[in-house]
Amino acid sequence: MTPPVEEVRKRSASDYVFGKVLGEGSFSTVYLAKDVHTNKEYAIKVLKKVHIIREKKTEYVMREKEVLMLLGSSCQYFVRLYWTFQDAERLYFVLTYAKNGELLKQIDKHQCFNIECTRYYAAELVLALEYLHSKGIVHRDLKPENVLFDENWHILITDFGSAKIVKENTEKCDNETESDTTFHKRRNSFVGTAQFVSPEMLTDTSSSYASDLWALGCIIYQIVSGLMPFRGPSEYLIFQKILNLDYVYPEGFDKTAKDLVEKLLVIVPNKRLGATDVKPYTSIREHELFIGLNWDNLGPPPRISDVSDNISDIIIPDNLEPGLDEATASRLQLDLLPLAPTPSRKKSQPSRKITDLSPEEIEQRLEAQKSNPYHVFVSSNLILKQGLIDKKKGLFARRRMFLLTLGPHLYYVDPVTMVLKGEIPWSGGIRAEAKNFKIFFVHTPNRKYYLEDPEGYALEWCKVIEEVKAYYFPEQSEAK
Ligand code: ATP
Repeated sequence: MTPPVEEVRKRSASDYVFGKVLGEGSFSTVYLAKDVHTNKEYAIKVLKKVHIIREKKTEYVMREKEVLMLLGSSCQYFVRLYWTFQDAERLYFVLTYAKNGELLKQIDKHQCFNIECTRYYAAELVLALEYLHSKGIVHRDLKPENVLFDENWHILITDFGSAKIVKENTEKCDNETESDTTFHKRRNSFVGTAQFVSPEMLTDTSSSYASDLWALGCIIYQIVSGLMPFRGPSEYLIFQKILNLDYVYPEGFDKTAKDLVEKLLVIVPNKRLGATDVKPYTSIREHELFIGLNWDNLGPPPRISDVSDNISDIIIPDNLEPGLDEATASRLQLDLLPLAPTPSRKKSQPSRKITDLSPEEIEQRLEAQKSNPYHVFVSSNLILKQGLIDKKKGLFARRRMFLLTLGPHLYYVDPVTMVLKGEIPWSGGIRAEAKNFKIFFVHTPNRKYYLEDPEGYALEWCKVIEEVKAYYFPEQSEAK
């Protein structure tokens, strides 16, 4: 495997000034950083070694690096890995900075793309897949969050942790290879994201280049309509829809785009448009949607909207020291705060503990609680705090209504089906730990719950859990 050219020269965090947290993944923080030698901006993905080892994600990280190195710099439609290095605590991936963020953000913002934009970005995706597959790589998690935009609004595909590298000289990749060992171990699971996963990955967990063609169909559907083709209140129901090809086109869906999507969203992988092309993906290129397009030079991208996009130019201040020590990392982490909706951020009462309630107050509150639709799940215990939380397990996150009550209990309910899904068991050994304003962990003696508050109240959740612990288990509590 060829290392990135520049890797020959040893690099370290002190070659960069770290300016801003661009985003966070389950196991990583991505910073905007500036090379001190060239002033060039990069996105640096930083992964904490202990976290990776504890969460058993080493293979995922290695896979991502391996794929990025295989991709190299020959195709403009992929995030490029410039350097990798490590220190005692962290791994660093120096990547192309995708200045214009995620495709998903643009879909959310504009609801849908017009046909000119759809054609253009579908074509960039086709060219990207031609290159990716020619390198023997199946992405397996292609979705609008993993398609970023560079400063000129060209796509940059990212996130190769779930990718599969097909053995060299293997034309199709129906047979899994050695680099797929984790996948084998998880036969009853699948990689990727529920809404974009192909039927074959659900039924026999096999994947091929055609699995990415399925995802291409899903993305084209989403950019035309603003919606994902397979939607449902639970993963189980989404999977049923995928397996039954149960989806509809909203009114007004462009006819030509519909024809292409229909030819890509086909249950049998080999029957998808392009899947059996001798020269991939001639048959997709020849589709009516792309008539008149110059595949050798797509030209500049059309504007996604008439309104000028206010992409904020994030400036890295000149007075910062290079490197990423703990103090810098914490400061930058806190800088993430203004991105959260601050004006409506409610502060919890500082002086009074959540558990400081008289018996009369508990009675009154319980009476009022009867009109709360979640009252039926809490066995008449008083709800001290409730909120929607994404409960992560593996690559999945399920949104649950969490209910912290006297007792103590920490129940969680599926807010769509209104079914009680479980309870985090309470004991003196419980411990809440905030990673940042959104992500927090609840440690119990036997398990670690990985939780994310989309509203950004993780710190408050941790505070109240610790208060309840101090109330019921004062000996084991630090927050007395
Ligand atoms: P997970 O690991 O949970 O699947 P992820 O793949 O999104 O999440 P990262 O790759 O660490 O995790 O990215 C975290 C966030 O950082 C992304 O959501 C994206 O908004 C931002 N980001 C990632 N890479 C870049 C980049 N090259 N340029 C700009 N922003 C980026």
